[in-house]
Amino acid sequence: MSDCIFCKIIAGEIPAKKIYEDDEMLAFHDVRPQAPVHFLVIPKKHIKSIMDIESDDTALAGRLLSKAQELAKEQGCGEKGARFVINAKDHGGQTVDHLHIHVLGGRFLNWPPG
Ligand code: 5GP
Ligand code: ZN
Repeated sequence: MSDCIFCKIIAGEIPAKKIYEDDEMLAFHDVRPQAPVHFLVIPKKHIKSIMDIESDDTALAGRLLSKAQELAKEQGCGEKGARFVINAKDHGGQTVDHLHIHVLGGRFLNWPPG
């Protein structure tokens, strides 16, 4: 989508610190990290939110989750763990309307969120 920040990152129109890329997904460091490790895993297909995943997307969604886990380990979170977050729409606090998995780690994270 032409006005989507993450589609622009995928297209190379906005720079990002990429940590992984293949034909269907991209992972990059969050520009405003909330923890020592904070990166996002996104599909290259513009899916607005987890609320908009359709049956054709379920295999892709599984691969995104699997890659998030693999990269979390690569980023040093394998032993102590991490938090995997998908914000959705207004009440979920989603600010970028392109599906993304946050991976946060490197420190203890409180629960529940505010
Ligand atoms: P949300 O609030 O939608 O779950 O998360 C959006 C995330 O995208 C935020 O953590 C925000 O810091 C990050 N973000 C927004 N714009 C950019 C950008 O241009 N580059 C990068 N790397 N991250 C961004
Ligand atoms: Zn997009």
